[in-house]
Amino acid sequence: MKYIGAHISASGGVENAPLNAQAIGAKAFAFFTKNQRQWFASAYTTQNIDLFKARCEEFGFSPDYILPHSSYLINLGNPGEEEIKKSRQAFFDEMNRCEQLGLNRLNFHPGSHLNLIPVDECLDRIAESINMALDRTNGVTAVLENTAGQGSNLGHTFEQLAYIIDKVEDKSRVGVCLDTAHTLAAGYEIRIRDAYDDTFRRFDEIVGFRYLRGMHINDSKKELSTRVDRHDSIGKGVMNLDLFSFIVNDPRFDDLPLILETPDETLWAEEIQMLYALIK
Ligand SMILES: [Zn+2]
Ligand SMILES: [Zn+2]
Repeated sequence: MKYIGAHISASGGVENAPLNAQAIGAKAFAFFTKNQRQWFASAYTTQNIDLFKARCEEFGFSPDYILPHSSYLINLGNPGEEEIKKSRQAFFDEMNRCEQLGLNRLNFHPGSHLNLIPVDECLDRIAESINMALDRTNGVTAVLENTAGQGSNLGHTFEQLAYIIDKVEDKSRVGVCLDTAHTLAAGYEIRIRDAYDDTFRRFDEIVGFRYLRGMHINDSKKELSTRVDRHDSIGKGVMNLDLFSFIVNDPRFDDLPLILETPDETLWAEEIQMLYALIK
């Protein structure tokens, strides 16, 4: 079964997330565990937590279809000692917040070398950060999102994701989220049947579908291999509807949160319906 939803707002309290997801007909959702552009946020209250859980249950959102996203400020591969400490602290806090909400995964962008250290060294730092976070939390999987490879952002190749996973001690709590827009911009063609099959065959060989914990379903304003991260609404960018049809009809993407991060939130309800209508 396909669980399609969107990255919805949790403003005014995390308990609003399931409400906002329900309102657009979503079967899955993502949200920021705290304001994504600030380092500090106050802790969840018991009331926040209880209401979040009660609403998820009421609307039928199982933790397996909820994919929280971490703050954009966090860089788990930061070359600076003070800087990486700050990022790790913020990441531990976000993993903790997921645990408090009874959730089992946290999606994040792997990290950036900022042109100060070699790629391998940055990937090592990211893996070490994940190991530290897994030591300090229970039951939450760290979900690496593939990136477009903009600037010095890592995680844009399947090999880099596999390299990080290889260095994570507890393989049962590390996973991957593939973003369709990032995949294309990073240089993987997915819009044509043969290329789609080839890309996901390579993903399976290099990373492995067993690590897949979610997908971000986005159209892209930017072409193949541009390494620029610009999402577009479904059908409005350089993707075609074929790609989305391949995905919703592909059993390898069953029972995972499939999350829209498209720019026009007024279209989300329609986009979700459109994607479900593509199922043959
Ligand atoms: Zn992301
Ligand atoms: Zn994404």
